[in-house]
Amino acid sequence: MAVTKVLDQIWCIEVPLPKNPLKYLNAYFIRGKERNLLIDTGFNLPACREALLSGLEELGVSMETTDIFLTHMHSDHTGLVEAVKSRTSTVWASEKDAEVIRVAGSDDFWGELEQLWIKLGFREDSHTHPGRKFAANGNFPMEILGEGDEVNVGDYRFQVLHTPGHTKGHLCLYEKDQKILISGDTILADITPNISIGVGNLNPLGDYFESLKRLESLRVEHTLTAHRRRPASLYERIRELRDHHGHRLEEALGIVRSGRGMTAAEAASKMHWDITSRTWEEFPPSQKWFAIGEAAAHLQLLAARGDIARREEKGYWIYEG
Ligand SMILES: [Zn+2]
Repeated sequence: MAVTKVLDQIWCIEVPLPKNPLKYLNAYFIRGKERNLLIDTGFNLPACREALLSGLEELGVSMETTDIFLTHMHSDHTGLVEAVKSRTSTVWASEKDAEVIRVAGSDDFWGELEQLWIKLGFREDSHTHPGRKFAANGNFPMEILGEGDEVNVGDYRFQVLHTPGHTKGHLCLYEKDQKILISGDTILADITPNISIGVGNLNPLGDYFESLKRLESLRVEHTLTAHRRRPASLYERIRELRDHHGHRLEEALGIVRSGRGMTAAEAASKMHWDITSRTWEEFPPSQKWFAIGEAAAHLQLLAARGDIARREEKGYWIYEG
């Protein structure tokens, strides 16, 4: 079943993400009185488009009366906005992520990101980010939402929460009375959300820990995640995510202290990764990209805490313990 009812007036459309470890995107549809809300869309790929459109058709949705809320800027969430929106659809996003969506088609944006990875010690013949080919053409108009705003659909009154970490401008929706959290990629149940350094996003893990603390303080019974299954308990999942990063921080600290200064790429090559390649050299370049981004997120937090230091040498960022 590609469409399942989740809660009163809320449905989940499962959008497959071919060749992606996230497997599928959960696009949520909330039926309102005058306007409906669609949350996230899928990659700009035929398989995603077909699944989303047939799901909307199964639900008898008219996009003329439906608005779109984007939890964050990644192309598996934003890629199909232009394919599904109508002239009357309002598209909502956070200011920080909307900025990225607007420039995601530009060479400057990717060039800056690629320069950052070179600083982190990434050495490959091609420095093309694996997400570049999926970049949505973000030329659609967006309305900005942020912390403290409200989104009302039918009887639901959602508070907008800014939960940076996975992206700088990530947003969640929280329905206090019904104890519903639409968590985007801030909380995922059976996979750990990718927390990666980015341009202008230099301590994402520090931000993420703050976001987890914030979500932990809410009363939530239903956590509607953007990928795969939904967790039975938000609080248990937050503990697991915190433990996971706690172990990774210890691992990264041990690696940096065992050397005499290293780049994030060197640290990443010594960390343990759940992937089938036996050695770092055998990692596909796209996996190296993500691994380096994640390793750097941990090193940057260690440096922010003063557990290690970072200096610049010949254009590289060198971490030492
Ligand atoms: Zn994402």
